[in-house]
Amino acid sequence: MAVIVQKYGGTSVGSPERMRAVAERIVAAKEAGHKVIAVVSAMGDVTDDLVRLAAQINPEPPERELDMLLATGEQVSIALLAMAIHSLGHEAISFTGPQVGIVTDHGHTKAKILEVRADRVRDALAEGRVAIVAGFQGVTADGSITTLGRGGSDTTAVAVAAGIDADVCEIYTDVDGVYTADPRVVPDARKIGVISYEEMLELAASGAGVLNLRSVEFARNHGVVIHCRSSFTGAPGTIVEEADNSMEQAIISGVAHDTSEAKVTIRDVPDRPGAAATVFTTMAEANVNVDMIIQNVSEAGATDISFTTPKADLVRARRAADAVVAELGAREWQVDESIAKVSLVGAGMKTHPGVAAQMFRALSDAGVNIDLISTSTIRITCVVEARQVEAAVRALHHSFGLAEGDVSVESVPACGKGE
Ligand code: ADP
Ligand code: ASP
Ligand code: MG
Repeated sequence: MAVIVQKYGGTSVGSPERMRAVAERIVAAKEAGHKVIAVVSAMGDVTDDLVRLAAQINPEPPERELDMLLATGEQVSIALLAMAIHSLGHEAISFTGPQVGIVTDHGHTKAKILEVRADRVRDALAEGRVAIVAGFQGVTADGSITTLGRGGSDTTAVAVAAGIDADVCEIYTDVDGVYTADPRVVPDARKIGVISYEEMLELAASGAGVLNLRSVEFARNHGVVIHCRSSFTGAPGTIVEEADNSMEQAIISGVAHDTSEAKVTIRDVPDRPGAAATVFTTMAEANVNVDMIIQNVSEAGATDISFTTPKADLVRARRAADAVVAELGAREWQVDESIAKVSLVGAGMKTHPGVAAQMFRALSDAGVNIDLISTSTIRITCVVEARQVEAAVRALHHSFGLAEGDVSVESVPACGKGE
């Protein structure tokens, strides 16, 4: 008998029929003798609809109230799923995030989980019931409802799995695993059987939204094994776990893309010590997340500083940029919202030379111009024009031989030199 956390995303519970299918899957696991905790998202596009509704009332809604609103989506799902399980003759009990003691900090709309108490979940399981937990939400120590950031139900699932020491955390979604690229963009992308936390973290951070970045961080920090799989089929999915040295390590695991960021450029910043510190301190104080940074060569005592930031932070970034220009006496700021990032991720690139060169060549052959570049030990990211990003993903996927049936997928032993 195993203790299993099963998380179902918005599409998986998007209609009464889908909700019933999920209930049947849960009941099957229970009848096989397992203890099941289900974590669910809001149905279909409910969260997007609530965000739009709030914007119609107030374009900059207070974040505490936005959380109060968004958390309702998941509450609908848990109640309906519990009803569906009851109609199949099994006992189920639903809980909101606050009810199961998912305690977070005060970072409304992107709160971090501090503690999972989960006593009520343990009690429900001990009584032979299915426990159903609302994803994406928690509560501060002083009782305000918070949400964990878009896609945050994955994080709830992993945190609950860690909190009750579950055997596995299954993330059920509308694809049957993690692919070498978003299958909506690359139809012949290949399903990855097993992937390390390290590579999955880089893919998720680079825009592969199939698993939420925080959930993978949490899983790595607490040793939770994730099985990402389809709620529509019984096919085995992708296992995300600690890298094992006996694992074959692909040079490239996958290509990810992200259209959620914009580029901000501050023009003619005086070239003097402390100027960059002023720019980024001002941004940080305005709660603007900064991703890639590039400072151009200085000419005539002034330089341009560019950085990328989530489009969601742009209202604050524009305000902060006004303050920066005034404080430093820079010429102006500009925002370019038509950019996208394309990233190549693979642990084998640490020991394999020439990956960057091949990436830049493949982009150039596809007529894609590179704006900014950044790297980590197992990732190379290029900023390109948004309208070209899908072509860029396909070009890289092809160039590195990642497709199903491609014979050019090279792999090197994890500890090998690779050259
Ligand atoms: P859920 O609502 O179940 O949480 P999401 O929409 O958050 O589902 O995530 C699933 C989607 O992630 C897929 O439909 C797919 O388009 C997208 N996706 C992006 N990158 C990848 C990838 N590398 N592998 C699989 N799916 C991906
Ligand atoms: N419903 C939330 C969202 O759409 C959380 C989730 O689905 O993971 O972002
Ligand atoms: Mg998701």
